[in-house]
Amino acid sequence: MAKIGLIDLDGRNFPNIPLMKISAFHKQKGDDVEWATIGNYDKTYISKIFTFSPDFVQGFGNYGEIIKGGTGYDIHSKLPEEIDSIRKIDYSIYPKINYSVQFFSRGCIRNCPFCVVRKKEGYIRPVEPMELNPKGGRIEVLDNNFFANPNWKDAVNLLLKWNKKVNLHGVDVRIMNEEQAFWLNKLKIDGAIHIAWDFATDNILENIKEMLKYVKSYKIICYVLIGFNTNIEQDLYRVRKLKELGIRPFVQPYRDLKNERIISQYEKDFASWVNKRERFMSFDFVDFQPRKGFKCSFYIDNKENEFNQKLKNV
Ligand code: SF4
Repeated sequence: MAKIGLIDLDGRNFPNIPLMKISAFHKQKGDDVEWATIGNYDKTYISKIFTFSPDFVQGFGNYGEIIKGGTGYDIHSKLPEEIDSIRKIDYSIYPKINYSVQFFSRGCIRNCPFCVVRKKEGYIRPVEPMELNPKGGRIEVLDNNFFANPNWKDAVNLLLKWNKKVNLHGVDVRIMNEEQAFWLNKLKIDGAIHIAWDFATDNILENIKEMLKYVKSYKIICYVLIGFNTNIEQDLYRVRKLKELGIRPFVQPYRDLKNERIISQYEKDFASWVNKRERFMSFDFVDFQPRKGFKCSFYIDNKENEFNQKLKNV
């Protein structure tokens, strides 16, 4: 019986599916698996999803053979097939997690320039769902683009059969049609449905209106990417349109994979105005005074200056 150590460099706030598969794989073989501390291990698996997570520093423990994986190390890193194909993942390594994580598809139909999904996972393809957490609770559906999966109806049917609350992470409103909106509304959505309006040039308003025929606007949160290739007018246009439709925007300043990009003061102020709901609902950006003696109308008045040019060139 081997002693296996696990290390998650991104923290342990959200279940790490590859580590749960690794744990299940080794326990099936009769190995002893635990979160690595200063101990003696035959093998230690280290996962790092985010490039900015601090790297592993070897202390006094004996970690045996060290196997590193995850996008933070290499976007092409993959689990061996015999581990990746495991469908009964080990929830026991997260005793406090009372919900399930699930994928019905991997990959994506798109190849957005700021996203690694297509490089890492390729074009969209259905995958066999995993068994649910025996502790029950809601299901976090982590598909990158749920309705782009050619088998999305099977996924909806299974979710309806499971009859649990669902949190859908990847709803691409650009492909949303009336049929999808109808079935989306049949699911027991937990909290909000998250959509995104990343490119100002995408005209998604018609798709959003299709969605609103079945889904109440207050159940939708729309991520709005700024600082990538949009200017201040495009940022304001998107959040104001969403407000008109009763949809809550959530602004995300662009971060590069290595987290080296410096977020501008404008982006911080814009996000601070939109993401604080009371502010966003009570006054316009031009009237927002984030600091003493500074009003955000400055950004509009100076739109042709170097500041805005810089923004356009990001
Ligand atoms: S649609 Fe979403 S998951 Fe797909 S490539 Fe674009 S950002 Fe990535």
